[in-house]
Amino acid sequence: MLKIKNLHASIDDNGVLKSILKGINLEIKAGEVHAIMGPNGSGKSTLASVVAGKEEFEVTKGTVLFNDEDIEDLAAEERAHKGIFLSFQYPVEIPGVSVTNFMKTAINETRKAKGLEEMPAKEMLKLIREKSELLEIDRKFLSRSLNEGFSGGEKKRNEIFQMAMLEPKLAILDETDSGLDIDALRIVANGVNKLKSKDNAVLVITHYQRLLEYIVPDFVHVLLDGRIVKSGGKELAHELEEKGYDWIKEEVNA
Ligand code: ADP
Ligand code: MG
Ligand code: MG
Repeated sequence: MLKIKNLHASIDDNGVLKSILKGINLEIKAGEVHAIMGPNGSGKSTLASVVAGKEEFEVTKGTVLFNDEDIEDLAAEERAHKGIFLSFQYPVEIPGVSVTNFMKTAINETRKAKGLEEMPAKEMLKLIREKSELLEIDRKFLSRSLNEGFSGGEKKRNEIFQMAMLEPKLAILDETDSGLDIDALRIVANGVNKLKSKDNAVLVITHYQRLLEYIVPDFVHVLLDGRIVKSGGKELAHELEEKGYDWIKEEVNA
């Protein structure tokens, strides 16, 4: 599904081009859950941003293929329409727009981009009911104004609901450094586990091993200074939790 080959990316840091990703290779197949771990500043969020197509980063070398298509020239929105979903971004507050109405708009815009008609209201309601039941979201929540006064957990619930409605092929979850409290963590993990299927893939990005106790990855990769320096199974996450990252740095420098 996702094939990243020798990816290099930089950012303009006050007029100086700063290299952040320095040759990433990664392949994610449908049905797989991958985790990327690494110390703060290693480039995890940059990798997520580059795959999602955020424009502040410049790809200087390498390719990103999504279902065998080179997506370099596609805008973030077009990538989203193709099924790439990036979560845990800074959430927007839209006063006066309910969770439901926001979701309806999001669904219909995606359909429009694919040349489809708006989803009939009945079908939309059925979809909303189905997904909200799956994620145990109550009706009151659906009529609330988007993110206004949401707790951390409610923001996460809303994001996961968004993901459930949009049914992305590749969901990228970037856990911010501040981390999630335990309730938010459970909401996210339950949602992801319920939405997982043989046809979609998940990339979980995290600084800590905590989230991976709930979302069990098939593969774990360690990102260090813009490179994936080690890959393994879920046991690698436990090893990192126990021993930190220094031993890997030593391994790399040896
Ligand atoms: P991580 O998510 O692993 O903590 P990031 O991808 O956020 O790492 O950052 C990787 C490196 O790129 C860090 O050194 C960070 O300071 C730098 N960086 C990220 N975004 C910017 C930016 N907008 N301007 C300048 N430097 C940035
Ligand atoms: Mg960081
Ligand atoms: Mg980050």
